[in-house]
Amino acid sequence: MAARFDGKTVLITGAGSGIGQESALAFAEAGAVVVGIDRSLDGLARTAEMLRAAGARFEAIEADVANEGSVSAAVEAAKAVTGRIDCAFNNAGITQSSTLAADLTFEEWDRVMRINVTGVWLCMRAEIKLMQTQGGGAITNTASFLSHHSMPMQTAYAASKAAVVGLTKNAAIEYATAGIRINAVAPGGIPTGMMAQSLSGLEHEQAEAARHAIAEMHPMKRLGRPREIAQAVMFLSSDEAEFVTGVCLPIDGGWSAL
Ligand code: NAD
Repeated sequence: MAARFDGKTVLITGAGSGIGQESALAFAEAGAVVVGIDRSLDGLARTAEMLRAAGARFEAIEADVANEGSVSAAVEAAKAVTGRIDCAFNNAGITQSSTLAADLTFEEWDRVMRINVTGVWLCMRAEIKLMQTQGGGAITNTASFLSHHSMPMQTAYAASKAAVVGLTKNAAIEYATAGIRINAVAPGGIPTGMMAQSLSGLEHEQAEAARHAIAEMHPMKRLGRPREIAQAVMFLSSDEAEFVTGVCLPIDGGWSAL
């Protein structure tokens, strides 16, 4: 029996760690050729090792999603792998320091916006142009629980993730008749490098307590797993979701239902 993504080429940004890395593995296990973009060469090397061990085809491209020239070159290079990009997962993102809105520096605000918002738009722009020439495709962007909800000391991050939903919905309706579906996923708390980084200022016991407190905020009383986000991205990228566009799907153990 053919695997679900046999013959498909999937582009994933932020493929060197966390949700992007696990998604690369999940798509590869489902038969896709995966092209991973990240600014971390070490991360890409780890992903490449995992996928090659799984017998999958993986191409790594070092690029900065916040840089216009870097994104154009990366999407061109991704296209060169098989001649097309059927599905794109624009997932690279960064967190912010725990800082009150009025204490944020311009530099930090700008860094978060450039990577989390401009980065998604730059990738979408290049992907949409390519998908128009090939007659369609599916794009999924990574939003967040914080796209729709608030958390103290996360103003820049929350604003950036709300913008991802706006980008997703507007682009979705613009290209709805072009065979290009554009959706987003909104993860709850997922234990990845990003979460570790946001707790890195704390002592070990404090960090464990904070991780436990975040888990307890979810009605399911646990954190999510990167694979659980990957599975939702695969659904939105697949033909099973062929009438789905412009949605932001929460994957958060019920958190957004509170
Ligand atoms: P992560 O830090 O493990 O992975 C993020 C990856 O993005 C890293 O490999 C990093 O090198 C890459 N990256 C960052 N900036 C980049 C840039 N400018 N160009 C290219 N690559 C870049 O984090 P994660 O938790 O896997 O995060 C993935 C996405 O999920 C992010 O958009 C994040 O905001 C979102 N998210 C995470 C959580 C969570 O709890 N972990 C919750 C909601 C949303």
